[in-house]
Amino acid sequence: MERIEFNRPAMTGLEHDVLEDVLSRGHFSGDGHYTKLCSAELARITGAERVLLTPSCTAALEMAVILARVGVGDEVILPSFTFASVANAIALRGAVPVFVDVHADTLNIDAERISAALTERTKAIIVVHYAGVSCDMNALRALAAKHGIILIEDAAHAVGATYGDKPLGGIGDLGTFSFHDTKNLSCGEGGALLINDPRLVEHAEIVREKGTNRSRFLRGEVDKYTWVELGSSYLLSELNAGFLWAQIQQCDAITERRVSRWERYHAAFAELEGSGQARRPKVPVETQHNGHIYYLLLGDSEKRERVRRELGNLGIVATSHYELLHASPAGKRHGRVLGALINSERIAATILRLPMHDSLTRAQQDRVIGAVYEVLAVDTITASH
Ligand SMILES: *Cc1c(COP(=O)(O)O)cnc(C)c1O
Repeated sequence: MERIEFNRPAMTGLEHDVLEDVLSRGHFSGDGHYTKLCSAELARITGAERVLLTPSCTAALEMAVILARVGVGDEVILPSFTFASVANAIALRGAVPVFVDVHADTLNIDAERISAALTERTKAIIVVHYAGVSCDMNALRALAAKHGIILIEDAAHAVGATYGDKPLGGIGDLGTFSFHDTKNLSCGEGGALLINDPRLVEHAEIVREKGTNRSRFLRGEVDKYTWVELGSSYLLSELNAGFLWAQIQQCDAITERRVSRWERYHAAFAELEGSGQARRPKVPVETQHNGHIYYLLLGDSEKRERVRRELGNLGIVATSHYELLHASPAGKRHGRVLGALINSERIAATILRLPMHDSLTRAQQDRVIGAVYEVLAVDTITASH
């Protein structure tokens, strides 16, 4: 029986030729030909003022928190239902991650709960567009503007997704993308920082170039370069940028293939939701997702674990998501929690992500759908007794 993987990195077929060209150009460090092409195209797609390629989304988040001038004792608001990189970026500056609950419908940070988490030390909010479904950006922007705090979008899942007519990552003051193998577009390891507030561009260039004004030097604006601020090495190698260029050119096609697979799952599981066996994703009308994740919410954690195990026995890899950060060992040490995170706890206990990638075949998807119904049929029989 063929095993159906949860993820396979996208391959467009253009990667070989681009990498050969990178080799022939002989420039392998950051800011070469392909870095410039990728940055310009990402800026065009998102409307960002500037885009800087980074070694990872983790690195881009670290940069974003530095640019927000977050320091020791400051606070930054974020969801607990997310990846450790978001909280690390905050705690590494000596600041406190303040965990807020997510909305039960979208699995995204609940804008209405944020006000209660604000203090005079709050410097920024980092929101995550889970599964490429947008947060309530109008409410979040209004809140950030009212309180004079920086809004950062972790758009690791969300390349190619929109809120109204606005591309995700291009709405907050700063945005981040991930090009890890597990994301829609990939180059092995990679990421990008999207700078939407023009006032942050010069500082961002400095932070990325080890705290020096080397970018100004390269443009001939200063005659030597020197250490002017705290920074690190946040450039992506040209080898990765070339690989990424092969994928960015096909972004729309990759997104379309994923969205069509997402919609196929969604139609197939309508009956499951109708019979109360599972809850399907809810996508607000003003948003367009990018097919990054298809998930089901399954009653309780025992049921989720049983379904996951039995799908595994049938050769299908389905996965949970996120051990909540506020309850993790480092989260308890470094963070603060706002109230009981009831939605986050229920979601983390019951979510099951199904195989999703742009080369998943119809036959494979039919097998996944059939297997989910087969495994859940046991519950229907039990329930009718
Ligand atoms: C994948 C991911 C990251 C980290 O991305 P890397 O490029 O691997 O550093 C950060 N945040 C979220 C929400 C992610 O899914």
